[in-house]
Amino acid sequence: MAHFPFSERPHLLVLTCTHVLEGADVTLCCHHFSDNAWEFVCGEAHTEEDAIVLSIGELCEMDPTLHLLSDLPVGACAVRKNRAYAWQTGRIAGEDFYPAAESRM
Ligand SMILES: [Zn+2]
Repeated sequence: MAHFPFSERPHLLVLTCTHVLEGADVTLCCHHFSDNAWEFVCGEAHTEEDAIVLSIGELCEMDPTLHLLSDLPVGACAVRKNRAYAWQTGRIAGEDFYPAAESRM
């Protein structure tokens, strides 16, 4: 199996959406401060019914470019237009953020 930076916790459960499972590109990743939860969703509008939980290992197998987000600090998010574009990182509005992480962004 190929190396990937999430490899120390491939069974980590993350939130994603049914669209991603059906092949849509992940365009938004949030690493929430409050519960340390990871969220990987596409650009569609979402309802609660679209939310599913997958292991980060499974998700990285579907989209290897998600490996690039493994050091995203809590309180940060990353967006991109689609899989062909680079991730742009920023802070999640209204959430706490570790200031020490700011220098890496
Ligand atoms: Zn979606």
